[in-house]
Amino acid sequence: MSQPTRFTLTQADIPTQWYNVLADLPEPLPPPLHPGTKQPIPPEALQAIFPEQIVRQEVSTERWMAIPEPVREVYALWRPTPLLRAVRLEQALQTPAHIYYKYEGASPAGSHKVNTAVAQAYFNREAGTRRLATETGAGQWGASLALACRLFGLECNVYMVKVSYGQKPYRRMLMETWGATVHPSPSDLTEYGRKLRAADPHSAGSLGVAISEAIEDTVKHPNTKYSLGSVLNHVCLHQTVIGQEAIRQMALAGEEPEVIFGCVGGGSNFAGLAFPFLRLNLTANKRYRIVAVEPTACPTLTKGELRYDFGDTAGLTPLLMMYTLGHDFMPPPIHAGGLRYHGMAPTVSHLLKLGLIEAQAFHQTAVFESAALFARTEGIVPAPEAAHAIHAVVQEALRAREADQKRVLLFNLSGHGLLDLSAYETYLKGKLADA
Ligand SMILES: *Cc1c(COP(=O)(O)O)cnc(C)c1O
Repeated sequence: MSQPTRFTLTQADIPTQWYNVLADLPEPLPPPLHPGTKQPIPPEALQAIFPEQIVRQEVSTERWMAIPEPVREVYALWRPTPLLRAVRLEQALQTPAHIYYKYEGASPAGSHKVNTAVAQAYFNREAGTRRLATETGAGQWGASLALACRLFGLECNVYMVKVSYGQKPYRRMLMETWGATVHPSPSDLTEYGRKLRAADPHSAGSLGVAISEAIEDTVKHPNTKYSLGSVLNHVCLHQTVIGQEAIRQMALAGEEPEVIFGCVGGGSNFAGLAFPFLRLNLTANKRYRIVAVEPTACPTLTKGELRYDFGDTAGLTPLLMMYTLGHDFMPPPIHAGGLRYHGMAPTVSHLLKLGLIEAQAFHQTAVFESAALFARTEGIVPAPEAAHAIHAVVQEALRAREADQKRVLLFNLSGHGLLDLSAYETYLKGKLADA
């Protein structure tokens, strides 16, 4: 073989700690505010919906946090994930750039989201929680939490955005296979859901609405806690196993990435890959360029406003300082369901404000062109969300060709698209449109 293209670590190399970017921020993160009083929310108040250890992680500025052994043992089902060099994509683009990707679609649920689902299920079980409530859009998060709950013996109740419940039956079946109960949202199970259904019996639902229902379910049931798949500090923290592994794998490849890309919905897979590299920018004089990629149809970082806003539609969550399109923003129904969120992780928002990361936005037709090219060269059919990162990489690789410069690029392939094939069919039939 002419050159190695796949860089793997062993089970013993699964990270033993999560990295907390809050420890290295040049300016502290503005605190979350109570939705009623608009004063900084005391951490104890968050214990109404989260277990104590998760709350501790949410507010901590400790740099490293130990990953419990039972969590590492579950991680070993699919971690360390592989890092690959996309030589066939490079050849197709005739670029001197070297393109590397970290493949998080190798998890049983097909995306990075299980990294935090497993940790959250574990800390809940340790705290005596018996039941978790959550929301899901297209179903990636619900499926990840369903699996994690099964592995740690918890009941899992998922409020799934109604339009996806109808259009994406396979992820619902996946959740049910792992033993979760899935309700189309808005549902009849909560006051908020009943109110919306009375006003509009055909309401298609949204992620913001489903979050409101899951929180209401949590506070009205005993032994129940809430679980969120992105945005919050503890979620981004749990995802940092990705970047820690990638740093070691890039060393195995004998290269340093110049530019690092991740797609952003709520920001967690991007954070997971980028924050461990960013630590080296902040503490070891490295100069990695770090780029967050979003859809033009839901342009939170490139067109949103940085201000306090709610995470849900009903206004039940704490107010978070973040880039937002407004908590009542209804994103158009693009195929990258995981990127249709009005807000953004406060950490990612803060880093953009400080100029420590960059943001780019692309239309889905262009994104699917790059997704198809990737599938046809590298074999893996990418999730439509991850395809946004691929498209940004392709643009950078083409600029490298223009400049006739070798550039080392790295991106997070956050998930596979095998349950998104109907989106590919729309693309293949030439029926994909831009919002
Ligand atoms: C959910 C999801 C995303 C978006 O969520 P982040 O928290 O921004 O990572 C991206 N890619 C895949 C495959 C997803 O399932």
